[in-house]
Amino acid sequence: MYFRLLHDESSGAVSYLLADLDAGEAVLVDPRGADVPVLNAMLDEHQLRLRWLLRTHEHDALLTGEAAALDALGAPRIQHHLPASQPQGNPGAEPSHAFLTFGNEHVQVVRTPGHTAGCLSYLWRDRLFCGGLLAVDACPFQPRPALPEALWDSVVNDVFKRPAETLLFTGHATQSRAVSNVLEQRRWHPWFGGATRDEFLARVRTLPPAATASSTTASTPPPRHEHTDDDRLLRTHH
Ligand SMILES: [Zn+2]
Repeated sequence: MYFRLLHDESSGAVSYLLADLDAGEAVLVDPRGADVPVLNAMLDEHQLRLRWLLRTHEHDALLTGEAAALDALGAPRIQHHLPASQPQGNPGAEPSHAFLTFGNEHVQVVRTPGHTAGCLSYLWRDRLFCGGLLAVDACPFQPRPALPEALWDSVVNDVFKRPAETLLFTGHATQSRAVSNVLEQRRWHPWFGGATRDEFLARVRTLPPAATASSTTASTPPPRHEHTDDDRLLRTHH
């Protein structure tokens, strides 16, 4: 297996490449349009075919052109909704998750609304890529969660009920580490750890209201500083 992480210094955005090198297939989690040339080079280096482009969430209303830039990668984009194939969950209820495959691996796609209405998380082995779920007020594109009640449910009743050692990979690392685990976040998360639902919801109400796309243009992060690839890419092999 092959796993790489890209971190954008100015926005804190974190993207991930997962690949089955033997089968020559890869997925990307939360790629950025600006990184498409780098991502293509990473895929080419190992002759990888991109099977899926997985987005935990998007702020495309503020980042116009982002979706079109990502489509240049030539893979189906999964966002907002579970993929149509093999939806799973309790009979009669709305499906809670679905599976996608790449090479000999599979990714479970999980509905985790809250940061945005259509947030998805992606479970691969013992790693959950959960985007902005734990960011609360740390997403540079929105001052507060879109659906605070749903966010509480997704975090406390789904993510925190997973095995303690599950690794959590965030999509926004401005004020936090890119990776933690369920045990740490359950106990020490500054918003969810030790808080009741009512306390959490009351505190969210103290955040600035969610702004519209046109009024938040000024708060869009500045263009990123230039870094060499070695600064931005952390590499691990499995
Ligand atoms: Zn976000």
